[in-house]
Amino acid sequence: MSPLTGAAVDAPGRLEADSWAGLHFLDAPWCALCGFPFPYPAGDGAVCGACAARQPRYDLARAAFVYDEASRALILGFKHGGRVDALAQFARWMARSGAEALDGADALVPVPLHPVRLFRRRFNQSALLAQALAKQTGLPVETDALRRARPTPSQAGLNARARRRNMAGAFTVREPAKPRVKGASLVLVDDVFTTGATLQACARALKRAGARRVAALTLARVVRPVNPLT
Ligand SMILES: [Zn+2]
Repeated sequence: MSPLTGAAVDAPGRLEADSWAGLHFLDAPWCALCGFPFPYPAGDGAVCGACAARQPRYDLARAAFVYDEASRALILGFKHGGRVDALAQFARWMARSGAEALDGADALVPVPLHPVRLFRRRFNQSALLAQALAKQTGLPVETDALRRARPTPSQAGLNARARRRNMAGAFTVREPAKPRVKGASLVLVDDVFTTGATLQACARALKRAGARRVAALTLARVVRPVNPLT
């Protein structure tokens, strides 16, 4: 079944062409740090205005496609409808866009949901994506490495700065995972990169616990017009 239309597809994990024809896949040239797409080649290591103004806590972030009208239905169907049949295809796309993030990685770390939200959504899509990516790459998943240190108010309607404040210190590394985090190269996995505040808070916790490198890999990414003043 296609997660978008419910139509039968030719093989498990394959989406029929119509449901992804409108997706805007992400590829270089992009910001070397956050993966913001550039309209033209800007040279190796070029970074966007936002990252130049404030270096992110993660080493780099990559996403498979732009979060827009075309991808929203696909992702909402996955998030809220419990449709997990697209996972293998999602993982292939993430592995392609995230090759640099996955290069030399030791483990995948899904972004944990607050328990109340986990209950409401019935399942944790970041963990499902991480498991699908594990099948694709052979990397282990550190499902319980991170935990929410405190509940965080909804991020909806908050700008980037407010989101950072909202999320600061929101995550900690669980004691049993610390020996595996220390010195490791890790890849955070989530469904949507919005402002990156959640991924930054997770990266901060992992680095504090001694992680050598923390990359972030998401299925989709919000791409707003560049405003050098914000
Ligand atoms: Zn950037």
